[in-house]
Amino acid sequence: MSTILSPGDVKLRDGRSVDFANLDVAATAPCLRVVADTVAELLPFYGSVHRGAGALSERCTREYEQARETVADFLGGRDGDTVIFTRNTTDALNLLARAVPPDSTVVTFDAEHHANLLPWRRTVHLEAPRSPQEAVAALERALRRQRHGLVSVTAASNVTGEVWPVAALAEVAHRHGARIAVDAAQLAPHAPVDLTALGADYVAFSGHKLYAPFGAGVLAGRADWLDAAEPYLAGGGASANVDGSCAVDGGVSIGGPDRGIGVRWATGPARHEAGTPNLLGAVALAAACRALAAEGHREQAERALVARLRAGLAELPHVEELRLFGPDAERVGIVSFAVLGEDPGELATRLGRDHGIGVRTGLFCAHPLTRRLLAEATARLDRSAPVPAQAVRASFGLGTTEAHIDRLLDALRRR
Ligand code: PMP
Repeated sequence: MSTILSPGDVKLRDGRSVDFANLDVAATAPCLRVVADTVAELLPFYGSVHRGAGALSERCTREYEQARETVADFLGGRDGDTVIFTRNTTDALNLLARAVPPDSTVVTFDAEHHANLLPWRRTVHLEAPRSPQEAVAALERALRRQRHGLVSVTAASNVTGEVWPVAALAEVAHRHGARIAVDAAQLAPHAPVDLTALGADYVAFSGHKLYAPFGAGVLAGRADWLDAAEPYLAGGGASANVDGSCAVDGGVSIGGPDRGIGVRWATGPARHEAGTPNLLGAVALAAACRALAAEGHREQAERALVARLRAGLAELPHVEELRLFGPDAERVGIVSFAVLGEDPGELATRLGRDHGIGVRTGLFCAHPLTRRLLAEATARLDRSAPVPAQAVRASFGLGTTEAHIDRLLDALRRR
């Protein structure tokens, strides 16, 4: 697999140096060398996209549109699908929320990351299910009770790493005339996300979780709602024609009758990409897609690392894993846990300073789910213990080794 750019060794409090064990990959993944090289190659040709006729602009425009095609291939895009570059997953889901037809209601589960919970208006929140089968049954009941336009669901939880039954949920949604959007922020770095195979109508993910730098994400899927919606951002690039006299053929008039202007919005992805686009972000993201498509996601090795960590945690009497679906659910490289007897913030500091390990503590932008799972995990450990205010999350990917996992387990043992 292509090399991951790493910060190298870090110095510990006792003076030793160790290679940094980045176990916070779910928040932001390190960059692949091939991605960095691709960006470096393009830098001398830095120029405007879709806004000039010179050689630089031509090349940059070509690279940008090729990046869009790469992403469409990576996602198994179908006829009638579009790929829109956004800033990240949050941006992508907010864009989609604005494009849902006005008469459509949306269904989500309350287990979602806030990015897939807060943007939706006119939403029904279903209670987090206790198994993938229960998720499918709950959706079936909800759609029988009431007609909805869209179901929006995570593909893999950023709290538990559990993989959700997206294909089965898509089948239920479609049978009831609803579309389905998939928050693939946490699945895309770990497994193929294919619109066709999943039967998903929309998918959103972030480049910075997929071994590319910050600043570029994707919303991909059915073009019709997006083409019909008001532009997500109004401005240059999103407008095909603007006229100070209000008279734009096929357009709309904005402002008052005296000082108004007429505008005809662009069609296609440009409609939602107003402003100078993030060319380097899109090209980097596409390079990461190419690398993962060519070399695979290392799923087997990652499953073994997850099993190693979970088995080790199960032997620690003061640590309990957070889980929604039960012990045998399929998982990506994310394991969160409750720790009794040590403040999570202090634990994270100790892991960093004494062991060269980076983890995440908190409620992971999924407050309802994490609070509930923390309480349940604490009760499994010790019914009378106070529930910690934060959970601890270890998450990993292409650069993670068995030695990193063992170091974490050893550090947790030595409290
Ligand atoms: N959904 C999930 C499942 C996530 O884990 C995250 C990031 N933590 C997001 C959405 C939001 O991603 P971003 O911050 O890149 O917009």
